[in-house]
Amino acid sequence: MDLLATFAALLGSGGFIADDAAMAPYLLDWRKLYQGKAIGVARPRNTAELAATVKLAGDAGIAMVPQSGNTGLVGGGVPLPGGRSLVISLERMNRVRSIDPANYTITVEAGCILQHVQQAAEAADRLFPLSLTAEGSCRIGGNLSTNAGGIAVLHYGNMRDLVLGLEVVLPDGQVWDGLRALRKDNTGYDLKHLFIGAEGTLGIISAAVLKLFPRPRERVTAFAAAADLPATLALLGRLRAASGDALTSFEYIPRISLALALEYVSGSFDPFETPHDHYLLIELSSSSEGSGLRAIAETALAQAMEDGLLLDATIAESEAQAKKLWFLREAIVEAQRPAGAGIKHDVAVPVASVPDFLSEAIAAVGARLPGVRVLAFGHLGDGNIHFNLCQPREMPAADFLAMTGEFNRLVHDIVARHAGSISAEHGIGQLRREEIRRYKPAVELDLMAKVKAALDPRGLMNPGKVI
Ligand SMILES: Cc1cc2nc3c(=O)[nH]c(=O)nc-3n(C[C@H](O)[C@H](O)[C@H](O)COP(=O)(O)OP(=O)(O)OC[C@H]3O[C@@H](n4cnc5c(N)ncnc54)[C@H](O)[C@@H]3O)c2cc1C
Repeated sequence: MDLLATFAALLGSGGFIADDAAMAPYLLDWRKLYQGKAIGVARPRNTAELAATVKLAGDAGIAMVPQSGNTGLVGGGVPLPGGRSLVISLERMNRVRSIDPANYTITVEAGCILQHVQQAAEAADRLFPLSLTAEGSCRIGGNLSTNAGGIAVLHYGNMRDLVLGLEVVLPDGQVWDGLRALRKDNTGYDLKHLFIGAEGTLGIISAAVLKLFPRPRERVTAFAAAADLPATLALLGRLRAASGDALTSFEYIPRISLALALEYVSGSFDPFETPHDHYLLIELSSSSEGSGLRAIAETALAQAMEDGLLLDATIAESEAQAKKLWFLREAIVEAQRPAGAGIKHDVAVPVASVPDFLSEAIAAVGARLPGVRVLAFGHLGDGNIHFNLCQPREMPAADFLAMTGEFNRLVHDIVARHAGSISAEHGIGQLRREEIRRYKPAVELDLMAKVKAALDPRGLMNPGKVI
């Protein structure tokens, strides 16, 4: 039997795709930047089938590309255009294996859609807090492998902070059962952290034990206009302190992003009568009813207005109003595409450096290309800014995109001067693979190469990504 027939026999009906048209969606990334090639797409139903697939591919010397929801933004989940690769999709491994409300844990397979995990937690009166715009499509395996962030990192941490145990299929087909539901376990190296954020270069995550939290009973959502960038930081500190650290989201939106949403995304609205330069979308939450959170937020925001930190503020009166405010946060992302060609940077700096980073970077890109539109928005509370550049209105898109390398260097060098990161939450993939060589210490790159060589000596696990 030839290799493709062996995969098909192993994986059963619907388990193996080798037809070009059916493979197409697995070979193109979400941003349509990377088009890959594969000998087939394996869709195992369980860990045993996954392990057998990996063993078979490994023995045949075929590169393996794990893929979950294919919403990644750095080209990590699609194969390279050359060579012989097998895409291994986790989409059929989508069961919630168990939920333990007393232990505040849920055990899920890697192909579970993030939103389904949130819903399963809610049905058990618990919260799984990871939340991002792609939550209806991205899957836990991808969330783990990119160490996803999103809008609640400020309070709950990123994906790495939400994991207690992992089950992983290693590059030689062995299964590591590390599905421990323990909050304390100091029995040697904490190996799960090697696989989290590894973007599929060290093994394939098949299942995970995730942490749950008490479900919020009260939420306060506010939209505010800050006097300037330093004022946003002052408000962040005040709200954290005043609320007993109940601040869950602290998102920054510049006027230019809101203006583009108003121009391109129907349903967008201006929350205040007059335009302001700097907006914040703020959410506080508490698991206890009668928490007094609303009064705390009202007092803190009123005081900030009195002190000149804020120019305007509004607090949602209902769940529906809160949703409308959050819609604006999604609309500013959506407005980027119709606004023109974009060059994106997902960067982090220490929170206290955000105002300086923004002023310096905005000035530098504006000096290089007058008319460039800087859409710098995002998770200010985490120091994570999506520093996206949109082409000047009259400039041909191709001419603008030809400047990608130059703008990357300009922005990332400023990030490095602020001791920041050139990829805060999206990962490295293919997009930033060469660039990290400039910004990571040689010792760190060498350690990464040694870990890779130890776990995947044949270099078959997602080659051409990360390192
Ligand atoms: C509209 C939109 C909004 C987004 N917002 C955010 C955001 O706020 N925060 C954020 O962090 N990200 C965000 N992202 C990026 C993306 O959604 C996340 O990176 C997400 O975690 C990827 O999950 P996925 O299932 O789609 O992974 P995929 O795209 O399938 O894979 C991502 C990487 O993980 C590897 N991988 C996938 N599954 C496995 C596995 N089981 N074992 C080992 N390796 C695996 C792949 O090889 C690839 O390198 C956004 C994306 C979109 C499209």
